[in-house]
Order: sequence, then structure tokens, then C-alpha cells
Amino acid sequence: RPRAAVVVTGSELLTGSISDKNGPWVARELGELGFEVAHVLLVGDRPDDLAAALRFTVEAGCVLVVTSGGLGPTADDLTAEVVASFAGVELVLDEDMREHIAGILRRGWAARTEFSAEAIEEANRKQAMVPRGAVALPPVGTAPGLVVPRPGGPLVVVLPGPPRELQGMWPAALQAPPFRELLGGVPPAESLALRFFGLPESEIAATLREFDSEIDLSGVEVTTCLRRGELEVDLRPKPGAAVFAGELHAALAARHAKHLVSTDGTTTDELLARALLQRGWTVATGESCTGGMLASRLVDRPGSSAYVAGGVVAYSNTAKTHLLGVPAEMIEEHGAVSPEVARALADGARERFGADVGVGITGVAGPDGGTEAKPVGYVCFCVTTGEGLVLARDPRLPGSRSDVRERSTDLGMHLLLR
Ligand code: ATP
Ligand code: MG
Repeated sequence: RPRAAVVVTGSELLTGSISDKNGPWVARELGELGFEVAHVLLVGDRPDDLAAALRFTVEAGCVLVVTSGGLGPTADDLTAEVVASFAGVELVLDEDMREHIAGILRRGWAARTEFSAEAIEEANRKQAMVPRGAVALPPVGTAPGLVVPRPGGPLVVVLPGPPRELQGMWPAALQAPPFRELLGGVPPAESLALRFFGLPESEIAATLREFDSEIDLSGVEVTTCLRRGELEVDLRPKPGAAVFAGELHAALAARHAKHLVSTDGTTTDELLARALLQRGWTVATGESCTGGMLASRLVDRPGSSAYVAGGVVAYSNTAKTHLLGVPAEMIEEHGAVSPEVARALADGARERFGADVGVGITGVAGPDGGTEAKPVGYVCFCVTTGEGLVLARDPRLPGSRSDVRERSTDLGMHLLLR
């Protein structure tokens, strides 16, 4: 597969004041388009460092480089200049672009009196300078993007730093003729995905060793990624491989069927949304130790208003009793962290919100408060429906306070799907 690189610029990324959002985002997009992302490089705002990074991508055999940042109007924004010199061309004023940006600036900057007319004019001109032969992409903020061919490669796609602007400009970049032409020659990424819940990465490694004698694995590249309690397994053909991964895909799914979420990469969250929509069901949460994280996760998806009724964070015993009707005697007898209370939280939330499904979570998040019978990480879950369906679990989850709360949220989502 053709190799690509991402060069992310910004000194604030090197000091650690902000973390890079653009590298991973662009890398993912490029991977889906069929490129092999060989490098994601982070450089500061020094032009020499950016120039060195660009030269490195030539050595690395990349046919495409996507840069982010340094397109603004200020003196430290030098990406266009450096890329022009990398491509061996000069910067020329793009009159249409100057007009276009002038319009944007009149609406934005000019309304603010601290900028003089000359300063605005200067910024305007600077941002409308385009390497000769490049395609300029209309600004999403005020900075235009650039698609700059370099004789002998690579093609350089120059995008603004703010993630919202970068992502907003991406579709236009893909449509720019030099990029479109390059994409035409890229074989589509073939990959097969699997998702498992609660399966450790080491299990996959062990299964692969075991399969090694039965299935030809030499042509398959297997990558795993653990996120939100789900293990994503990606199978890709190695360059030039004759056999692909169909057999391995099926064998892995069958071997770990108990943990299988999907055979096409669909997440629990997506599957849950679909299942609730399909049945026309709504869900309500009664949360203690997760403090609303499950409700927040449920409303993460656009369109969730169709199936999320609401949720209550019932952290104190009084809140459990007053807001969700958990009997005080029950808490007294079994303790706030108990399967009984988890059930009462689920029922209470379901009834009070008039929802079809209720979920209750109560646990010992730690680091203090554990006992021998109910150690830190002990969490009780219950999912109930109006039809009397009850699904309960009370596992001991490992890790720190935030680990326990995150794992509880993951497991809550997973149980809802069951
Ligand atoms: P502007 O016109 O806003 O100056 P620019 O292309 O010059 O655009 P930068 O100056 O590099 O972009 O970045 C502007 C802001 O965008 C940064 O201060 C930062 O908040 C955000 N940003 C830039 N790059 C990244 C990144 N890789 N990840 C996350 N945020 C970023
Ligand atoms: Mg800037």
C-alpha cells in the first residue's frame, strides 16, 4: 500500500499544554482510504524543523503528507512558506482568495476595533499567498488550506490547526484534483474487524499461536486495540499476500463467541442504539458510583433523545430513597452497595421516568470504603424491564477509582445490550 505521513505543527503540542487531536484523526482517515500511515510527526513552530520533517517524508518513501497548523495570519504561522520552498515553488498572491478572505475578515476582525485597517490588510494578504501550482481550499475559519504537488512527490495537503477547521476542510481536500488523482491509484483498504467485550488481548495472542498450525496466518497482519472495555481486532492482508483473513476471522469469532460483540467492527454503543430504536424502547438510569457517566455515554450519540428517557445520580442514601424510592430499610439491611439496591435503583429509574428499561449501578469505587465482603471494585448492576426481565451482575472490577467507574460504565452499556 502507498505510504503516507502526517506532520502536525505547533509548539504548544510539544510543551504538553494541549494534546494532539489532528494526528490520530488524519491517520484514521488515511488508513480508511487505503494508505499505510508510516509516520505521524510532531514538530514545533520553527520553520527549519518543519522543513526537516518534510524532507524526512521523502526519505521514508511517502507519496502523501498531510500537515496541520501554522496557517494563521500571525508571523509564527509559516507552513505555507515552508511547504512552497519544499515543493520548489514561490508563493504568489491568489487574488480570488484575497477577496474571499477579505469578506470573512470584514465580518469578523473588522468588527473589533483593536485591529487597524493595515493590520487586517496585512493578515489578509499573508493568508492569500498560495504556492504556485497549488490548489487553495476555501477557509473554514479564515485560513485557506492547500494541496501542493511536489515534483517527484510527495503530494502535500496543508490544513489548519484547529481540529474543527481541519475536519471541516477534509472533504474539500479529497475533492482537489491532485489528491483525487492520487486516491484513484490507491487500492481500497481491505480489512476485517471483530469486536469482543471483556476479552483480554493476551487471549487473542494465545488463540493465534494455537491456530498457527491449522490456518495459514503468514499473509495476515493482526492488530488489536482495547477501548471502552472492547477489544477491537483488525485483520489486514500483508502487502502481496495471496491468502487473506476470512478463515481466521471466522475462527476467532467462533472461538470467542461468548465475548463477541460484532464481526464487522460495530461498537456496543452503536448496536445498543439500533436495538433500542428498533424496539421503540426508552431507557432510564439510576446511578450511584458512576455519577452519571452511563447517562452521559448514552446521550453521546446524536439522536439519542429517541431512546434515552433520563437518569438520576443518586449518590447519597437519602437521594436513593427520596429520588428513586429505594426503601431505607433495604439500604439498612443489605447496604447501599448490594444487588437488592441495584435492582431498586433500576426499577425506581424505570418507573419514575416511565421508561421501558431501567438500569441501576451501585458500587465501591474506592480507594477507601472497601470491606472484606465488599472490597473496592465491587459493583452491583441491574437491568430491568416492565415485563419483569431482570439481568443482574456483581463483579469485582480492578483498578483505580476512575478505572472502576469507567469499567462500570462500559459494563453497564454492555449489559443493556444483552
Ligand atoms: P489559526 O488561523 O487559528 O492560527 P493555524 O492553522 O495557524 O490556525 P495553529 O495556530 O497551529 O493553527 O493552531 C491554532 C489553535 O488550534 C491552537 O492554539 C490549538 O488550540 C488548536 N490546535 C492546533 N493544532 C492542534 C492539534 N494538533 N490538536 C489539537 N488542537 C490543535
Ligand atoms: Mg496560528
